[in-house]
Amino acid sequence: MQPVRLFDAVRVQQPYRAAIDAAITAVLDSGCFVLGPAVADFEASFAQYCGVAHGIGVGNGSDALELALRALDVGVGSSVVTVANAGGYATSAIRACGGEPVYVDIDPDTLLVDCSALSAALSRRPAALIVTHLYGQLAPITRIVADCAARGVPVIEDCAQAHGAARGGRRAGSFGDVGCFSFYPTKNLGALGDAGALVTDDAELAARLRALRQYGWTRKYVNQLAHGRNSRLDELQAALLSIKLPQLDDDNQRRREIVRRYDAGIRHPEIWPLLGRGGGDDVGHLYVLRCARRSALQAHLSSRGIDSDVHYPQPDHLQPAWRAALPRSLPATEAAAAEVLSLPCHPALTDEELARVIDAVNSFH
Ligand SMILES: *Cc1c(COP(=O)(O)O)cnc(C)c1O
Repeated sequence: MQPVRLFDAVRVQQPYRAAIDAAITAVLDSGCFVLGPAVADFEASFAQYCGVAHGIGVGNGSDALELALRALDVGVGSSVVTVANAGGYATSAIRACGGEPVYVDIDPDTLLVDCSALSAALSRRPAALIVTHLYGQLAPITRIVADCAARGVPVIEDCAQAHGAARGGRRAGSFGDVGCFSFYPTKNLGALGDAGALVTDDAELAARLRALRQYGWTRKYVNQLAHGRNSRLDELQAALLSIKLPQLDDDNQRRREIVRRYDAGIRHPEIWPLLGRGGGDDVGHLYVLRCARRSALQAHLSSRGIDSDVHYPQPDHLQPAWRAALPRSLPATEAAAAEVLSLPCHPALTDEELARVIDAVNSFH
């Protein structure tokens, strides 16, 4: 029997095959490969999709986070509030700027930031907040933005798992000061290589980001901003992303449907879904359940030809590279890290595959 993949990198490209081939030829013939018209087109259409004025293409999602921090003047010694269960990307970016991550614990039902813990951390006036819309679920962003505004703390949204997630007619990336996206191939909007973008309504911030992504130049060879670097988006990735963007809402609809079917179909006394998923503000990036006997469940699924993975096994504050000098306890974060398991979830997953996964999960002993 064919294995059921967590993500099928070949199948998800199939609907675009002819358009991708044509776009590759067009870029090749154009003779312009980096920061050209295809990048400008994609920046404009992606910003419009997100409902903001400015889009800035960059090399990848991690660079987007780091450039956002630098554009907001986060530097050596600055504290930045974030969570420790979101894969370490925010922590890497904060550390790269010389800043200090201040971790807050998560809500055990959703594994998103816990709002009361966040309020307490904000009262110590950090330089910024990075809020991650994890697994495709929009965080309680309206409340978070209001809390941060009251204290003058800028909000960076990490939307790398939440392209198109919307609440009250507004999309992820349009609530905070700046939204950061990755287009790594497995994301809801994926390139055929590394790519990323930032979106913002703030023209001055957008100008700083444009300079920072290219050596800090405000004009060619004029390094006006410190900490500039090279993190440009290339024409090929931008052209491919423009082909896929119009399908994003349909793909997200299929992902939400998969989340709802898993939620309805999985019935097991030892297995718990996250609460409140599959609604309009969720774009089903990953389908994550909790099980105290996770490795036994993984082995059982594997024996049935079903891939699974853990997002993420080690919280940031316990990672070898970043282990805090002072022991710090984040009980909900640590409990979740020991129990979360991700099942196959992507728009090309068939109903038969979905049924096979549900059947395999329910037959776990
Ligand atoms: C993938 C991801 C990133 C990093 O994006 P890259 O393009 O791989 O650098 C950042 N944050 C989150 C939440 C992600 O899932």
